[in-house]
Amino acid sequence: MVNKLVQLLSKLTAKTQEILPDVLLFDFTIVNACAVGTNDEWVMVDAGLSNSEAFILETTLKRFSRCPAAIILTHGHFDHVGSLERLAEYWDVPIYAHPLEMPYLSGKKDYPQADASTDEGLVAKMSPWFPHTAINLGFRLTPLPEDGSVPGIKGWRWIHTPGHTEGHISLFRESDRTLIAGDAFTTTKQESLLSALAGREKIKGPPAYMTMDWERARNSVAQLKGLNPALVIPSHGKPMGGRELEDHLAYLAENFEEVAVPRKEAEEDMPEL
Ligand SMILES: [Zn+2]
Repeated sequence: MVNKLVQLLSKLTAKTQEILPDVLLFDFTIVNACAVGTNDEWVMVDAGLSNSEAFILETTLKRFSRCPAAIILTHGHFDHVGSLERLAEYWDVPIYAHPLEMPYLSGKKDYPQADASTDEGLVAKMSPWFPHTAINLGFRLTPLPEDGSVPGIKGWRWIHTPGHTEGHISLFRESDRTLIAGDAFTTTKQESLLSALAGREKIKGPPAYMTMDWERARNSVAQLKGLNPALVIPSHGKPMGGRELEDHLAYLAENFEEVAVPRKEAEEDMPEL
């Protein structure tokens, strides 16, 4: 029931936005996905919810005259893989993920159930109903190249940014310092439906209710800040760039415990007096 409502909301509000000439954002309100590249070669980054397929297909059929070279996964949570199997089959393309994410995508390992106690927001409260069991992508699942290149799009590299999940990755293009951050951090308070709807642009940590390792998540944010991105496209929230991004990302990196880590986890990490 909860999932049905989230999915319906996402379907009714689905829209696209051209962020750069070669980066099209799919905005499903509670999550984003991207088509990256030009007509000659492009890839799909993440695959929305389970009812996002028709919108993604209609949009990409209008924009491109060919299928993508691949689907690249930032990680395997349900709101990134919802339409994945049907899209991959339709396009007949490989799905690339980090080797550490592959057990969750090949039926071997479930993600932990989301933790509703991380926040008072409605999405956090609904989160235990979100799917968390492993999917099995079979023969299409392929490890990302070890040299950091991203199959199908030149000039980009993938960066291992674990914490939210074990094999979480972000994508970065040095030439214009564009960062596709996945769930390494967000520009909305994802735990709250009102904030997700309003798309308030403020950098937060990864969605708390599904984040597995806060120490690694903190290191990943520091690593991404070190890239000095000029534009970030997160999986949750609106793209953000320039001075605003610089200021907010620096603030998040410097105040990660207070801004991102749920109080419960932070208290557990405190040394005993
Ligand atoms: Zn996630």
